[in-house]
Amino acid sequence: DEWNDRGAAQGTQQESDASGQQTRQIVKKGVKDFTFGRTLGEGSYSTVLAATDRQNLKEYAIKVLDKRHIIKEKKVKYVNIERDTLNRLTEHPGVVRLYYTFQDERSLYFVLDLASGGELLGVLKKMGSFDIECSRFYAAEILDTIAYMHSRGVIHRDLKPENVLLDRDMHVKITDFGTAKILKMETKANGAVSSSNGEMAGNPMDGAETDKAMSFVGTAEYVSPELLRDKNACKASDLWAFGCIIYQLLAGRPPFKAANEYLTFQKILALEYSFPEGFPEVARDLVERLLVLEPSSRLPVEHIMNHRFFDGVRWGKDLWKQKAPRLK
Ligand code: ATP
Repeated sequence: DEWNDRGAAQGTQQESDASGQQTRQIVKKGVKDFTFGRTLGEGSYSTVLAATDRQNLKEYAIKVLDKRHIIKEKKVKYVNIERDTLNRLTEHPGVVRLYYTFQDERSLYFVLDLASGGELLGVLKKMGSFDIECSRFYAAEILDTIAYMHSRGVIHRDLKPENVLLDRDMHVKITDFGTAKILKMETKANGAVSSSNGEMAGNPMDGAETDKAMSFVGTAEYVSPELLRDKNACKASDLWAFGCIIYQLLAGRPPFKAANEYLTFQKILALEYSFPEGFPEVARDLVERLLVLEPSSRLPVEHIMNHRFFDGVRWGKDLWKQKAPRLK
């Protein structure tokens, strides 16, 4: 059935044959192949447990979803979106990787990268706020991951420090793709696949039909004005949330926060926020170019990478190989 057979990442792993050559074998994994350990967290429809592969002792986080509950609450669609997006995003260190999915009578199982450092939100709360070096590093890893997701035609739509997990080396692993949007991909004449709203080339109107997300999703404090106004999310909506995150890393609180959701939305639509004293000028300049009401006027990803806030950052593989800075 589709829960065991869909997607390239599922049920397959690299193994060596007698001659030592890498061969790709189809290996069906199931509940019995793992030893379950401590509970890492609980969601509304899931429990996440630490687990070990009995064969090679590799550690994972396994998300266990109760089938009856998901069906009753009409969340089947979101579970499928999460699986489908994760299966599209397997070649980047900044996304929690999905290795296998399987099920038994009661539950669905997602075998994921273990993010033993917990949520960025937790670390940030403990520290109060980050210094500029730490903020630059975490912002850079988040942005590098957003760039990858967008290049693969995925809008996350719910970026926030709770959904940025940390691995044991304190590098970023973005999670929670249940409300993501997969954009229609175009196949070019040469067979190359690109997102229909590729930032670099093509008709700027190409994205008008496909780069949209109709339903209302997200978390109040990070929701973009276009989602509130037009119920449309686009790639730039993730960059709005990214602007909120940079602000929060340095200030210790999100820019738009009020007593309730309605008042938070009013503030967002009025672009009503201010910087605390001592907020670094270079970061302020970047945030001001991201927290822009009109999505098409926000700084695009490549320009963000070249902003002086990120001076000295080595983008690409190096970023993920470097030692995470000590929290300050
Ligand atoms: P909700 O479904 O209510 O929005 P959620 O999205 O946080 O909640 P889950 O994705 O099931 O729900 O995560 C539950 C908890 O488990 C979270 O607090 C998260 O920090 C933790 N968690 C999720 N995935 C991992 C992982 N790969 N490694 C370590 N901890 C994780």
